[in-house]
Amino acid sequence: MRTPKKKLYIRTYGCQMNVADSEQLALVLDSDYELTDRPEEADLYLINTCAIRRKSVEKVLSLLGRLKALKRRRPEMLLGVGGCVAQQEGQQLLRQAPHLDLVFGTHGIYRLPDLLAKQRQTGRRLVDTAFAAEMPYLCGPRPAGAVQKLVTIMQGCDNYCTYCVVPYVRGPERSRPAADIIAEVAAFVSQGGQEVTLLGQNVNSYGRGLPEAVSFPELLRRLAAFGGLARLRFTTSHPRDLSEDLMNCFAELPPLCEHIHLPVQAGSDGVLARMRRGYTQKDYLTKVERLRQVCPDIAISTDLIVGFPGESEADFQETLTLMRAAAFDSAFYFKYSPRPQTEAATYAEQVPEAVKTERLARLKEVQEQLSLASNQRLVGGVREVLVEGFSKQHNGQLTGRLRSNHVVNFDGPAELIGRLVQVHVTTAHRHSLGALLCGGQFGDQFLAASRQDHRRIPC
Ligand code: SF4
Repeated sequence: MRTPKKKLYIRTYGCQMNVADSEQLALVLDSDYELTDRPEEADLYLINTCAIRRKSVEKVLSLLGRLKALKRRRPEMLLGVGGCVAQQEGQQLLRQAPHLDLVFGTHGIYRLPDLLAKQRQTGRRLVDTAFAAEMPYLCGPRPAGAVQKLVTIMQGCDNYCTYCVVPYVRGPERSRPAADIIAEVAAFVSQGGQEVTLLGQNVNSYGRGLPEAVSFPELLRRLAAFGGLARLRFTTSHPRDLSEDLMNCFAELPPLCEHIHLPVQAGSDGVLARMRRGYTQKDYLTKVERLRQVCPDIAISTDLIVGFPGESEADFQETLTLMRAAAFDSAFYFKYSPRPQTEAATYAEQVPEAVKTERLARLKEVQEQLSLASNQRLVGGVREVLVEGFSKQHNGQLTGRLRSNHVVNFDGPAELIGRLVQVHVTTAHRHSLGALLCGGQFGDQFLAASRQDHRRIPC
């Protein structure tokens, strides 16, 4: 008789890259462990971490503190921390959390079974933060019902923006061979997958150093040529490396969704230079204009940092000017926080916390107006939605995303989850849209099956 698998609980912090890494963790450990969503029954509890901001590190330390009680109740449970914080802090984490058994870095995922075996043999607390020249990628079967997939196409970064910890914790840029990516996407599509998001720190530089010279636009063309893939997305793009060839893909490739995340970070040329971003405000806005010429429906989102060392009020005003000129559809915005090893952490003119807080509030106000205006432009139109599940905020309504990545909520039956449907957009809020399910291909069939009285309009 086969020994039953042990239970694995994974808590993931950070971006989509970390979510994809957690999927790899589960696959690497699959022969001995099965995932559980109940931490209290875990035999192995892993925390996959993000170090992009100081707050993220504090969150991990606070969770470790809370886990002391669980470890006391279940001393046989192994507790491990992986990912960027583990890479950055290494041995120091073992000192800060005496109940922690394992620390493994960003390249340690695939060595985790060996690390666990060694831990079992020796009973010692272990750290593995070595970088590897090559990292394998594992492809698992499509989880039941999953129609969206994150596919890592590259790891690491060589850009060394002066505020960013990524090159230090994820190592140099390495692209995954195109044939592996295509095989993974083909398998997913053949099992009924609908939407693929390609992941990398800077996908625009994909392909450098590969034996087969494949550029990122070429990779997109090969993936878009599959029949059956409804939606193709990617993140993140460095504005400096956004080529004309890539912009043209938005006009040429039907599955490529009309959305690009293009992190600008700041609007002042002086700040951009001190960040070592490699473009000016004018360069950035020229690319935004060109994108909108090529693909008039494209939605553009961005990342913004306020309070970078030396940022004056005039610099900050430049950021607001750029935001309005670019008319961002949405944005993630943060206060600058100095990260270990980075150049900007050593800059003399750190901006006081109170100034950062006040600027962040003003920036938020501007972005919320822009986001609302972006949502209002969609009201009255009919759009395709990939239904992702039930909304937690909107009272049991279904929720999904348009091709432009706008979030939309509407009444409908559970049978629609995982399907592409048409909706008529009726209301705009700051962070989402309200809509009515259209009749037609799916609407009639599913509405008839539903006992609820869903409002709908014919489109
Ligand atoms: S390009 Fe992105 S990941 Fe790379 S150093 Fe700059 S901010 Fe960090």
